Amino acid sequence: MSKELENLDKEYVLHTYARNYVNFKKGINATLFDENGKDYIDFTSGIGVVSVGHGNKQVADAIYDQISNITHISNIYAIEPQAKLAQRIAQLSGYDVATFFANSGAEANEGAIKIARKYGEKNFSKKRFKVITLEHSFHGRTITTVKATGQDKFHSTSFAPYPDGFSYNHTIDDIYNSIDDETVAVMIELVQGEGGVQPFPKKAIQELAKFLKEHKILLIVDEVQTGVFRTGEFLASNLYEIEPDIVTLAKGLAGGVPIGAILTKHKDIFSPGDHGSTFGGNYLSTRAGLEVVDILDNYKNSGKLDETIIYFEQKLKEIYEKYQNLFLESLGLGLMRGLRVKDEQTLASIIANGFDEGILVLKSGKNTLRLLPVLTISKEEIDEGFKRLYNALGKIS
Ligand SMILES: *Cc1c(COP(=O)(O)O)cnc(C)c1O
Repeated sequence: MSKELENLDKEYVLHTYARNYVNFKKGINATLFDENGKDYIDFTSGIGVVSVGHGNKQVADAIYDQISNITHISNIYAIEPQAKLAQRIAQLSGYDVATFFANSGAEANEGAIKIARKYGEKNFSKKRFKVITLEHSFHGRTITTVKATGQDKFHSTSFAPYPDGFSYNHTIDDIYNSIDDETVAVMIELVQGEGGVQPFPKKAIQELAKFLKEHKILLIVDEVQTGVFRTGEFLASNLYEIEPDIVTLAKGLAGGVPIGAILTKHKDIFSPGDHGSTFGGNYLSTRAGLEVVDILDNYKNSGKLDETIIYFEQKLKEIYEKYQNLFLESLGLGLMRGLRVKDEQTLASIIANGFDEGILVLKSGKNTLRLLPVLTISKEEIDEGFKRLYNALGKIS
């Protein structure tokens, strides 16, 4: 049966991913079941997407209720769940922002760059358009966002030419010297998700935010991965106590229904016609988003999210200390965690052994084992997941 799926996939789907051939049939919270009934503890949540768990009944009911009535109209009409989700996002962030809804992280970042460029035209006598990003960043796969991504391996000459106006800095401190009279924005992740689960120091970020504000340069925080309670607060920006000009969201926002969002306090940069999307913000995705955000807000307010984070951190600390021979460093915030592994080959073995043991984990950067569990993961699932990870590590060396 899996072979059948493998053949179909290989014959008819474009080969852009290095696939694992498994046929998942069902999911319950942080547990997945394949066609043979084998269960897997999911420490990936679909790369930070399935924030409220697989098969979430409350989200499923809300979606069913919504699409039984209206799935989609068009942004030429007002859309009630879209307006309500935008309001909830503003409330939860604590910022005075308005939101544009897109369909993915890359698309949200594209829109953010458009806002920055128009801001650069409106607010300076000589137009500013340059955006500074960081090495090891990841901002998406479109021609522009891949160019914004500070990793050479993504800048294949096959896809050239790329748009102008992007440069990369090695550290936060280097940014100050790279700013020139054409710089309009700095775009960063607070924890680099694809670049090794690397968080930046709070103080350095706060100083950068202050400096940029004084110079009227925009701070864009790409929270596609860190957003929606992943680091313990609604936004990682809340945790860092900064107020960016633009924040982008996507992954965890609608629990697996495609969505992207651009939040900005610069509400009057875009005028009608400047930006748009056919699907963005439709009834389906924003109704799902409303439900997800409600579930997670209650989960946070009840203290359960913090409890889960503390419990997960404790287990992670134990495994990190036990396997000092394999791990170099423990990194990350909240339920976005990484263990730097001594080399790439060992990491590949850990992931493969984990798969056999029934624990799903991710790679980040070159040699970081990345853990992005479902935010609503239970203590039992955490216990079982780590037990299996111990088994996977036990088979190394
Ligand atoms: C995943 C990710 C993106 C790209 O999101 P897509 O939905 O795949 O386009 C952009 N930025 C960050 C930080 C991400 O983690």
